[in-house]
Amino acid sequence: MSEYLNNDQAEILKRARQLMPGGVNSPVRAFGAVDCEPVIVASAKGAYITDVAGRRYIDYVCSYGPLIFGHAPEFVVDELREFAGRGTTYGFTTPHEVELAEMIAGAYPACEMLRMVNSGTEATMSAIRVARGCTGRDKIVKFEGCYHGHSDSLLVKSGSGLLTQGVPTSPGVVPALIAETLVCPYNDAAALEQLLAANRGQVACLIVEPVAGNMGVVPPAEGFLQRVRELCTEHGIVLIFDEVITGFRLDYHSAAGVFGVQPDMVCFGKIIGGGLPVGAYGGKRELMEQVSPLGPIYQGGTLSGNPLAMRAGIAALRRLRDEEVYPALIENTAYLQAGIDKLIAKHGVPASTSRCLDMFCLFFNPQPVGSYAEVMACDTALYRRFFAGMLAEGVMLAPSQFEAWFPSLAHTRAILDETLAAVDKVFAKLG
Ligand SMILES: *Cc1c(COP(=O)(O)O)cnc(C)c1O
Repeated sequence: MSEYLNNDQAEILKRARQLMPGGVNSPVRAFGAVDCEPVIVASAKGAYITDVAGRRYIDYVCSYGPLIFGHAPEFVVDELREFAGRGTTYGFTTPHEVELAEMIAGAYPACEMLRMVNSGTEATMSAIRVARGCTGRDKIVKFEGCYHGHSDSLLVKSGSGLLTQGVPTSPGVVPALIAETLVCPYNDAAALEQLLAANRGQVACLIVEPVAGNMGVVPPAEGFLQRVRELCTEHGIVLIFDEVITGFRLDYHSAAGVFGVQPDMVCFGKIIGGGLPVGAYGGKRELMEQVSPLGPIYQGGTLSGNPLAMRAGIAALRRLRDEEVYPALIENTAYLQAGIDKLIAKHGVPASTSRCLDMFCLFFNPQPVGSYAEVMACDTALYRRFFAGMLAEGVMLAPSQFEAWFPSLAHTRAILDETLAAVDKVFAKLG
C-alpha cells in the first residue's frame, strides 16, 4: 500500500485534472458544491478512509451506499481472493450469476426474472425500455428530485407547470429525447392523478425511488406509494421501483417489503455488488420474457454478470440474510440521528434531520423536509461550512447537502460518539 502514499496530493490532483474532466470520474467527487480541494483516497478499512497524505477520516460516504459492512470486510475480500485466480471475466454464463439472481428473486416477490448489468444507470435505462416495449406506449413518468442515473431520457426537470414540457438538466440531452418524459412532484399524489388523467393511455411506466435518497433522504408520505400503485394499476402503467439505494439497504426485502407495495419492475445496484460494480433489473415474468433472446427487446453487456462482482454480491447478501444486521444498522443510524438532534437544539442550528430506517440526512433547513421544494430551501452555504469543519475534525461527509449519510456496521458506538463530539464542536462555530 505504501507506494500509493504520496504527500503531494496537489501534484496528483494536477495530473488528474489534466486528463479527466474536473479530475474525476463522477462529478460529486470534485467537491465543487463544498468549495474544497477534493480528497484523494489511498485506502479504506472498516469505518475509515485514508487519503494519499496518510490522513484518516471516519467515512459517512461509504461509496454512496453499497458498504453496509464498512470498507473491505474480510469475508468479501476472502471471497474475491478465492475467485480472482479462476478468471476475472469469461463472456459465458457462470453459476455465480444464477446464485445471485436466485438470492435477489427470493427476497423480492415482484422480481420473478432479472438481468445483471454493470451500473444503476444501465438498470433503469433497460427497465424503461422493457416497459415501453411491452406496453407499446412512449411516455414515462418520473418525480422531481429522484435520480435514476444519467441516461438521456431521465436527465430532465419540470417545466413551468405540471402539464408543461420538461427541461433537460444537461446540454447534449436534446429536447426530443425528453419529450416523452413527464415530471411530477415527489410525494404529491394529487398532482400525479392529474398528470395521468391528462395523458391517459399514453404512459408506459412510472419510475420512482420508494424512499428518495438522492435529495438527501425524503421518505414517502403516508399512503403515497400505495396510491402510486393504485394509479399505475388503474392506468395499465408499469410501476418501476428504483431500489438502487434502498434495495437490500433498508431491509432484506427492500423498500417494497418495508412498505408492503410490490412494483411491476425493479432496479438494483450499489448494495447487490458488495462493493463491486453491479446493477440488475427485473420484474414480472411476462415483462422480462420479452427481453432478448427470449423476446424482441434488446439489451446486453459484455461484462455483465462479472464473476468477481457476483461473488462479492453473494458474500454480502449471505451476511445480510443470515445475521441480524438490519436492526443493528438501524440502531446505529437512529443513535446518530438522536445525537445530532440534541446538538441542533443545544446550539440552535437552523437544521433538521430526516431518517428512514438506516438512511439518514442532516438538512440545513429548520423545517422538517418532505418535498423537493423543501430540500431546495436548504442553506447550502451553511452546509459548506459544516462540511469543511467536519473534514478538519476527521469526519468525511458527502461533499453535497443533497446526499444521504451512510453509516455502516463498522461504525461502532465509540466511532459514532467521536462523530457526535465533532458535530458538537463544528456546530458551536457555525452560530
Ligand atoms: C446511484 C443511483 C443510480 C445510478 O446508479 P449508477 O451505478 O451510479 O449508475 C440510479 N438510481 C438510484 C436511486 C441511485 O441512487
